[in-house]
Amino acid sequence: MYFINENYINNLLDDDSLSSIHLQKDILTKASEAKGLTLRESAALLNISSPELYCELFHRAKQVKEKIYGNRLVLFAPLYISNLCVNNCLYCAFRKDNRELKRKALSLEEIEAETKFLVMQGQKRILLVFGEHPKKASIDYIGDTISSIYKINYNGNNIRRVNVNVAPLSFENFKALKSFGIGTYQCFQETYHFRTYMEIHPEGPKKDFAWRLYAMDRALQAGIDDVGIGALFGLTDYKFETLALLMHAQDLDSKYGIGPHTISIPRLEPALNAPAAKNPPHAVDDLSFNKLVAVIRLTIPYTGIILTTREKPEIRRELFEVGVSQISAGSRTAPGSYRESQESLHQHELEQFQLGDHRNLDEVVRDCTLLGYLPSFCTACYRSQRTGDRFMELAKSGNIGKFCTPNALATFKEYLNDFASDETKKIAGEFLKKEIEGINGTTRKKVEKMIGQVDAGERDVYM
Ligand code: SAM
Ligand code: SF4
Repeated sequence: MYFINENYINNLLDDDSLSSIHLQKDILTKASEAKGLTLRESAALLNISSPELYCELFHRAKQVKEKIYGNRLVLFAPLYISNLCVNNCLYCAFRKDNRELKRKALSLEEIEAETKFLVMQGQKRILLVFGEHPKKASIDYIGDTISSIYKINYNGNNIRRVNVNVAPLSFENFKALKSFGIGTYQCFQETYHFRTYMEIHPEGPKKDFAWRLYAMDRALQAGIDDVGIGALFGLTDYKFETLALLMHAQDLDSKYGIGPHTISIPRLEPALNAPAAKNPPHAVDDLSFNKLVAVIRLTIPYTGIILTTREKPEIRRELFEVGVSQISAGSRTAPGSYRESQESLHQHELEQFQLGDHRNLDEVVRDCTLLGYLPSFCTACYRSQRTGDRFMELAKSGNIGKFCTPNALATFKEYLNDFASDETKKIAGEFLKKEIEGINGTTRKKVEKMIGQVDAGERDVYM
């Protein structure tokens, strides 16, 4: 019935021939061409267990990420708008049976104040997050939220890309969402395993597995050509979940010629009164988590892989090395929490789940440059109509970097000039200089010109 063929995945998982070290080595050689892998090949890589092949897997994933995306890491922050929810997902603190959670939906004034806070930190991209609610996540409320965010501008600093994570919409409402000027529409299937899905979503509209599974089809048919899929790891066997997630990506690509712009890989975190989060039925250990990220990178080289502050800094650093390309920083997961201090707010009474990385944006940026990664605040593609198949064409051919590197450098310079601490300015300034010195030919000239414009006070310089 669905494009997720559980039998096919289970047969791959049961196929002992896919544990052959010989076969796995051959697949790793093929993977380094950055042309992607079949599901069968991904299943074989998920079976890797020898330390030597683990090393090779991670090395190849890093190489492929660098081939497509260079050393860039795109930064964003989530903005939680409402924690009211009519569903009862057993892993989430926002679920309706959690009577201890303080419910809050931000007013437009509060949304403006939160946005101002994020702008003043230096953020340029945000991800809006809503619980599912007929009023406090209605399409009109979403539209008002987005337009009030885009209106805010402080001395040329503003949010330039708003991505949205909200429950699946109808075709008509997706059309409306597109008209609000969103970047990516993001929604996670949570688990592609039908029986598990039904068990952990006991009531509310989210009970409808197929409505959620086909959300991206409706979004794409309605003209949203940037979509982000994901799975919540820990609910079922991670190998099954990874293969199903990849199957979803390949299904979208084959039907629409556009695969997912991003893949998110949240791991279950503890959450207030959320039984499935307290004892994850299939907790994923760190090594397996690194492995599945590397396999996603090698199977779909062009996709952005998103990692959030659910994970601790040490794990985040490891995952940068195996293919992650977008990260959140300085995040809070309770509506209204950016302006309030953690202590005064009693965050846990409002937040969705516990965070693993509590560092602010400046600290994360500094750490990235120390590790050799270039933080990017670029939002140019959406605004230059490089979305959908245009973006995919550039990403699949490895040519997207021609735009991304100069834009990353210019937006990073903007960040350093306007928002960085003295320590970060010093460390990252040196890093930036070396990055520019490493560029050749006409691109170097273009970059130097863009940096000159930023230093002269121009903002939002991009190509
Ligand atoms: N309510 C909408 C929905 O469910 O699609 C969108 C927002 S929901 C707040 C965003 C995502 O948070 C969910 O899709 C889920 O994957 C993730 N999430 C929920 N509880 C979590 C937990 N305990 N740990 C980690 N991620 C969690
Ligand atoms: Fe509501 Fe989404 Fe949390 Fe489920 S995951 S309880 S739908 S906010």
